[in-house]
Amino acid sequence: MSGKLELMLGPMRSNKTAELLRRAEMRRQYASQYVLVLKPSDDTKGGPGMVESRNPNGHGKMDALEFNSHNPWEVLKAIAQREKQIGKKVECIAIDEGQFVSELFLFTRHLLDANHDVLIAGLDLDFRALPFGEMLNLTWLVNAYGGSITECMAYCSCGSRALYSQRLIDGKPAAYLSPIKVPCDSYEPRCAEHFVLPGKPH
Ligand SMILES: [Zn+2]
Repeated sequence: MSGKLELMLGPMRSNKTAELLRRAEMRRQYASQYVLVLKPSDDTKGGPGMVESRNPNGHGKMDALEFNSHNPWEVLKAIAQREKQIGKKVECIAIDEGQFVSELFLFTRHLLDANHDVLIAGLDLDFRALPFGEMLNLTWLVNAYGGSITECMAYCSCGSRALYSQRLIDGKPAAYLSPIKVPCDSYEPRCAEHFVLPGKPH
């Protein structure tokens, strides 16, 4: 017995998180499943802990387990603890911001092999329009284990479908070689015609 994988991919502002939480809530409400929502973080001290994540899109607040994005494996212990607490299996694991999780392919495969259904939302491309983390590799797991791939739609301000996440620093398009961490950057979804990437090598 193994679980199935539901993948939600798309650029910034394609409502991936809202879709993830909607599906988590449906499983709770209609399928009576226990759904554990996971949120990768850069700054967890002392192991995984519960946080309240607020979603502005109307699903209200939902508890999430925050874990160190560099070590998803520490979550396994938390899952085992939770199963002991509730006296049954955690049927479904939902992971937000999957692009930040190290060893995401192996970790997801491990969860599927342990018969958890897995929902993962994340960015498919980074601001340089290159594959982000291991998100695109997960499509293989959908093939192998079953499930679905959902391309979440976003729109450029011109009205066309946006496939890219335009990064802006001080309101101007960020250069290809701009540093990963800049305090005042922002993102907006853009179509191919309006996506700008100064200094792009190819
Ligand atoms: Zn456009």
